[in-house]
Amino acid sequence: MRKIISIIVSTSLLIACQSTKDEFVDVKNIENSTIVKVNQLLGDKYPDQNLKIERGVTQTANLWRQSNGNHEDFEEFCVQNYISDETERELVFHKISRNLEALLGRFNQLSITLLEPLHLNIGEIHKIDHMFGAYNVGAHLWDDFYKNKIAFVVALNYPNYSLEQKNELGEKWSRKEWAYARMGDLFIARVPASLMQSMNDVSTKADSYIADYNIYMGNLLTENQQTLFPSDMKLLSHWNLRDEIKSNYADINIGIVKQRMIYQVMQRIVDQTIPYEVVNNDKYEWNPYSNETYENGKPIQINPEPNLRYQHILNYFHEYQKQDKYYTQKDTYIKRAFEEGMEISQAEVERLFVEYVSSPLAKEVGDLIASRLGRNLEPFDIWYDGFKSRSALNQDDLDKQTKTQYPNAAAFNADLPNMLKTLGFSSDKAKYLSDKIVVDPARGSGHAWGASMKGDVAHLRTRIGADGMDYKGFNIAVHEFGHNVEQTISLYDVDYYMLKGVPNTAFTEALAFMFQKRDLQILKINNSNENTIHLNTLDQFWSMYEIMGVSLVDMQVWKFLYENPNTTAEQLKNKVLAISKEVWNLYYAPVFGVKDQTILGIYSHMIASPLYLSAYPFGLLIDFQLEQFIADKDFSSEVQRIFELGRLTPNAWMHEAVGAKIGLNPIFRATKSALEKVK
Ligand SMILES: [Zn+2]
Repeated sequence: MRKIISIIVSTSLLIACQSTKDEFVDVKNIENSTIVKVNQLLGDKYPDQNLKIERGVTQTANLWRQSNGNHEDFEEFCVQNYISDETERELVFHKISRNLEALLGRFNQLSITLLEPLHLNIGEIHKIDHMFGAYNVGAHLWDDFYKNKIAFVVALNYPNYSLEQKNELGEKWSRKEWAYARMGDLFIARVPASLMQSMNDVSTKADSYIADYNIYMGNLLTENQQTLFPSDMKLLSHWNLRDEIKSNYADINIGIVKQRMIYQVMQRIVDQTIPYEVVNNDKYEWNPYSNETYENGKPIQINPEPNLRYQHILNYFHEYQKQDKYYTQKDTYIKRAFEEGMEISQAEVERLFVEYVSSPLAKEVGDLIASRLGRNLEPFDIWYDGFKSRSALNQDDLDKQTKTQYPNAAAFNADLPNMLKTLGFSSDKAKYLSDKIVVDPARGSGHAWGASMKGDVAHLRTRIGADGMDYKGFNIAVHEFGHNVEQTISLYDVDYYMLKGVPNTAFTEALAFMFQKRDLQILKINNSNENTIHLNTLDQFWSMYEIMGVSLVDMQVWKFLYENPNTTAEQLKNKVLAISKEVWNLYYAPVFGVKDQTILGIYSHMIASPLYLSAYPFGLLIDFQLEQFIADKDFSSEVQRIFELGRLTPNAWMHEAVGAKIGLNPIFRATKSALEKVK
């Protein structure tokens, strides 16, 4: 359910570059006067191409360094390599695309292989695995492209367009022009390869920290020193902990006691009072209320976690800061994550989220939840799961069915074509897609890692217990499967390699959610009633309400970091706690009737994939608009049509897909009518 690694790999590869010790003294050396001169030289030869020339020459000059030659070399390079003839330009475009696919596709394959010992459940991790896992085999590719000047040929002839320009001009662009514009995004900043490598180290360490953050639930003691959970239950923070809260709504006896205990554990993780030795360790018993620990029943003193959670965020921040100066315009990670990554500005995202979480509908839905639960809301009810029609189903029966059907990864793999057929895909298409997806047993919570070249496969990583795949695992695996289907269609079936993929990760989340929602259909459990659509709407409304708050916290944390670059891990922790409470008090306390909760700081994404969280609510919004659009259409053919669009900007993509921009009105309208129907 985590980040979509293929996209992260491909975009991070797109900004790497030079690698020698001299990289920090290898400065820009092309003056404005040279740019003007070259523009004139070329402009005189091709007077009808002035705009294209200026754009290309300026971008090339921004990327050019002393080591590439002096201003005369630059002039000569531009004059000799500017392609004025469209037929030749198209030919060269195809050659570059073909070779990029060969390179990126194989680097991606190598990364997958080197990371297997860390990502797959295939034995103990040795420290050498971390060393290989942290090695970014493609880190020097972009550096080489500057040395051999391929980068400059690209920048000169397929120049970059800003987000605004893409949205504006893109309305009239052909598919080929879109593909050219995407090629223009390849070389926009020249970040030294050594910085790419150190970023890789930081992210690998954060990933491992999160992937090993398990809580042994059978070792948790109640206030009366009793255990509530099965002795072999091991839950990964935060995903499994949150999902355990969700699944306990079905347990009318002690569900709430368990939920409160998990909530208590989460708060101790966020504020780092958790005794560090109980993490990923079944040696000690722990009472998360009193915070006392025991070894074989005898009290033992264990120190709290030393703010490691926040140190990982700081590590990311310091690395991104080092990269900032290499970007002419997007000189903070916040700008890059939103304007470049999501292609929507941070301010716009925040405005949309604030408008959403401030909606009076939240209180109405909250009241409905309280009345369905027959009690006042408690903070963990941000994960209320009772609108999902499946919560009424017996968890044990579901577990039994999925464990029998999917004893191991191979069984799940073999069933992929059938799952697709159940969702309406033709036999041919189901086989075509399934042949390009491989299921592996994951060490962490699982993820989907796509291929980067045709001929390669996407990987579906899923966590499967010794006794088979439980329903929770199945539900997540179906989500990942949705990612893999998107990754496959948007690689194999998009007309230009430069347009492979989706506008941003929110769009791949949308298809993952669409699959995940159909998990019971895949299990051939008929669970629909006339209220199903309304219940789904309320479920979606509530999920977005929850995750937008989490994402608002994430954004505020990064703004704080940029405003306070010298902050320590301890100060950062206190600030995250303060921000979490602040967001809670503004938008959740009025609904829940309780103040100062820190729970919005629990998400692991904040630690391992900073500023990624907003992709989820966007994914849900997009998902909602797509679902409404295809409700009276054929699911499989619409999925195919829409995900063949490839990587346009979010607005352009939505326009082609459903004829409208991303907005809140569809979900608000549907929620209102759902509230009238569901009691
Ligand atoms: Zn996902």
